[in-house]
Amino acid sequence: MSKPRIHILALGGTIATRPDATGAMQMGLGADDLVAAVPRLAALAEVAAETVSRVGSHSLSFDQIHALAAKIRALEVDGVVVTQGTDTLEETGFLLDLLLDLDIPVVVTAAMRNPALTSPDGPGNLLAAVRVACDPWMRRHARALGVMAVMLDEVYAVADVQKAHPTRLDAFVAPQTGPLAALVEDRVVPMSLPVRDAIVAARPRFASLSAATQPVALFWISLDEPGRVLEALIEAPDHLGYRGVVLGAMGGGHLPERMSGTAGRLAGILPTVVSPRAGGGPMLRHTYGGPSSEIAVREAGLIWGGRLHPLKARVLLETCLRAGLDRAAIGEVFDGWG
Ligand code: GLU
Repeated sequence: MSKPRIHILALGGTIATRPDATGAMQMGLGADDLVAAVPRLAALAEVAAETVSRVGSHSLSFDQIHALAAKIRALEVDGVVVTQGTDTLEETGFLLDLLLDLDIPVVVTAAMRNPALTSPDGPGNLLAAVRVACDPWMRRHARALGVMAVMLDEVYAVADVQKAHPTRLDAFVAPQTGPLAALVEDRVVPMSLPVRDAIVAARPRFASLSAATQPVALFWISLDEPGRVLEALIEAPDHLGYRGVVLGAMGGGHLPERMSGTAGRLAGILPTVVSPRAGGGPMLRHTYGGPSSEIAVREAGLIWGGRLHPLKARVLLETCLRAGLDRAAIGEVFDGWG
């Protein structure tokens, strides 16, 4: 039986670093180097390797991920594995998930420990990612699974995954849902399918997207925040070029009372999404009263981000703005997340 054709696209990140003369790790390895480090790949798949870039994921752009999505759409293969840095994997992967609607597995993987360390995780993660992309159950359910992240022998829906630690091997978690599958010995053991109704419902609105990036500001709202940066954004010429704002709000969707008027004014000027700074979980809609409770904040015209982490809410808002959606349509898209 012929082996699945798996295309590996390397963007950069720790997985692709090598030491310079001073011992500092620099981006440098390409896709061929990553594949060469894992001879067992050849037994699983017909692997093609392509180096897309050699950059840290902290420096990737929305435009680069749009170009990557177009490249993936044009491939005639049985599965795709993207390697990149871990820092923005939860954002880039989610954007790929919004943009791609394919019936082949698309898996993003990375490394927490660089190749110069005693136990780098990059080779194992690449082998696991290719194993997932080749797995018959994963291939059969690819459309229902959406884009996946594979780290440390666990498979996550990228729409639910977060990087929760800067250095540990087990840095990736999906606190709201848990993993979709586990890898053990030479097997992929499925455990669940993700709920993707909101993504599926939103996709037709993203059929035509502007090539121009739509800057979205993200503010983490914290104790006693006076809201002066938001006031400056409102007053600044062209709002400093920002086209939308995400507020990482407290608890079930609350803001400090002293800045609630400013948030309401901002929402009248730019699409402004409230998303839980707790990192996920559906926010409240009609429990608390008072001037900056969720009831008041919603009445002031802020868009409800549901259970989306603020980082993912920002990616979704940027995509909505590229699609030219108005405030009402953006609200409908976000409503799908609870
Ligand atoms: N900051 C770099 C990046 O995201 C290295 C982090 C990593 O890959 O783990 O590409």
